[in-house]
Amino acid sequence: MLEIKEYEDVIQIRMSREWEGKALYWVAAYLVDGLLVDTGCAHTAAELVEFLAGKKLAMVVNTHFHEDHVGGNARIEKYFSVPVYAAPASISIIAGKPFLYPYQEFVWGRPEPSPVLPVPAVITTPLYTFEVMATPGHADGHVALLEKNRGWCFSGDIFARQKPKFIRPEEDMGETIRSLERIMAAAPDKLVLFTSVGRIVENGRAALEENIRYLRDLARKARTLQQQGHSETEIVVELFGGEHLFAQMTDGQYTTANLIRSVLKMSH
Ligand SMILES: [Zn+2]
Repeated sequence: MLEIKEYEDVIQIRMSREWEGKALYWVAAYLVDGLLVDTGCAHTAAELVEFLAGKKLAMVVNTHFHEDHVGGNARIEKYFSVPVYAAPASISIIAGKPFLYPYQEFVWGRPEPSPVLPVPAVITTPLYTFEVMATPGHADGHVALLEKNRGWCFSGDIFARQKPKFIRPEEDMGETIRSLERIMAAAPDKLVLFTSVGRIVENGRAALEENIRYLRDLARKARTLQQQGHSETEIVVELFGGEHLFAQMTDGQYTTANLIRSVLKMSH
């Protein structure tokens, strides 16, 4: 299922597999002046192509290789023959067969391998200029697109919420903070975040600051407990009351323990 919303010149396309009449989990792509940022998951690829038919579409950028961001690539290439770009580090992954856990297959489906081109440092559309910023932390090769004149940032998954409670094992919170700081340094005062989880955050700067403050604070608390001799599991219990239910639902992938492990690795 698709839900469409407009914000200034940007069209938000929220997509989710429908299960028993309900949305399982939303992911958002954005269409702006012929540029499509991300392509959703395999389960919604046909609906996305249907929505795009007749719209202005000149190119696609994948913010990163995760299956809920590249799932529509192959079908879009087939029907619209437009270039699809991603960071060099993501290209071979998007062109290959990803390893997926059962929950990923169920919620998002398996993306068809698709050829993608290295994303240029700057993307221009007839009306806008987007700076392509390397923003690792959530995934290697993650990029965010910044339109400085409008204060728009298509932030992919580098920012999802101010206070994350669980992350995947490969996420690096120290790297994430550096990426968020890079966005803030490059962005104008007025910053709107177009996130992949579907939130359009108007006061983007304050949201990023809160996210960084939260992670640093969490790191401080976790480190203190570690110095007192507490184990990782005990720290999770102490700070969050135990592991999040999401851990079970995601084959042990999204966990609070991963978050604690990552913040403990952060330099002071
Ligand atoms: Zn992701």
